[in-house]
Amino acid sequence: MLWVLVLTNTVELPSRHLRELEESRRQLGRALDRVGDTLSSTHDLVALLDVVLETCALTLHADASVFYATPAPGIPIEARASYGADVTGVRLPDGGMPGQALTGNRVCVWPGARSPAFGEPPARAAMAVPMHSRGRLFGALVVYRRQRRQFSHGDVDTFTTLARQTETAIDNVFLHEEAQRLSITDGLTGVWNRRHFEMRAAEAIQVATRFGEPFAVVMVDIDHFKQVNDTYGHQTGDAVLVELAGRLSAATREVDLVARYGGEEFVLLLPRTALTGAAKLAEKVRSAVAAEPVRFDDRDLSVTVSCGVAAHPDHGATVRELVAASDAALYRAKAGGRNRAEIAAVEERVP
Ligand code: GH3
Ligand code: MG
Ligand code: MG
Repeated sequence: MLWVLVLTNTVELPSRHLRELEESRRQLGRALDRVGDTLSSTHDLVALLDVVLETCALTLHADASVFYATPAPGIPIEARASYGADVTGVRLPDGGMPGQALTGNRVCVWPGARSPAFGEPPARAAMAVPMHSRGRLFGALVVYRRQRRQFSHGDVDTFTTLARQTETAIDNVFLHEEAQRLSITDGLTGVWNRRHFEMRAAEAIQVATRFGEPFAVVMVDIDHFKQVNDTYGHQTGDAVLVELAGRLSAATREVDLVARYGGEEFVLLLPRTALTGAAKLAEKVRSAVAAEPVRFDDRDLSVTVSCGVAAHPDHGATVRELVAASDAALYRAKAGGRNRAEIAAVEERVP
């Protein structure tokens, strides 16, 4: 739409204005190409904002441009990224230009609107546009000129076009992050999935090999889980799985990894943990599950788990070997009566 406006407006203009408009049109075209390239090549929000801020400043002949994030309740608007002025991290208790754009949900131009607030880059002209993602206001872009040269209607159009392009790019970043998160977490319980466990375990082996640090894996399997499903239904079974995932996360440290390995089987990856530490943790997990029944649908269900513990390098040099060794230990725990933790024997090491 901007092109149409520019072209139809140029018909009766003097040649100098015509050249300026053509140049401005070329600049905008280059700017949009650049944002478009960034859109398709980066899924990194910070890199994207850097390009957008630079493009806005150069295209609109501004000295500075800033992205402000929508504040959380009770917290002032904050500059999250800036170009041409060192204001990243600065908060605006008065809201300033971005506050006006967000409150009115429209483009604000100063002079005209209220002036920028203390903390914004020094300016004698400024323009702010609100930003949306999936129907929600999430921040504002603001450009500042040190000279008293007001932003024109054409500038407002250009800025709005750039902001809309940026919104599409940011939506793509969020979608990409969401897709990545979904592909490595378990949909029912929210803990990591087997694929992520295997990736992280392979990394742990590299670190362990290079720095000589131990690490361990613990397989955790619910005892007689089929009976829970058969007696109370699949929904109750699902609730038990969710509760167990929560108890495993609570029993482990931040650096440990809890993953659903499949079905009613979970796996823990414990970095910098030798066999004795891992065995203690397995016992802690076992008793944490057995101690407290799972409450669902006004019913208390007694749930127990069996665990198999294996450590690197004692029981294997690869992820597959370590999983096989902890599985063998788990099998012994089941055979030994369930509701217990067993440590892999060295002979359970898969050659
Ligand atoms: P054991 O003590 O030997 O481990 O016995 P078990 O009954 O736990 O083991 P078995 O392998 O016989 O049964 C596992 C059950 O787990 C069967 C399957 O229906 C159930 N299961 C697997 N995934 C899910 C799930 O996502 N939701 C529910 N509700 N059940 C599941
Ligand atoms: Mg089971
Ligand atoms: Mg099982």
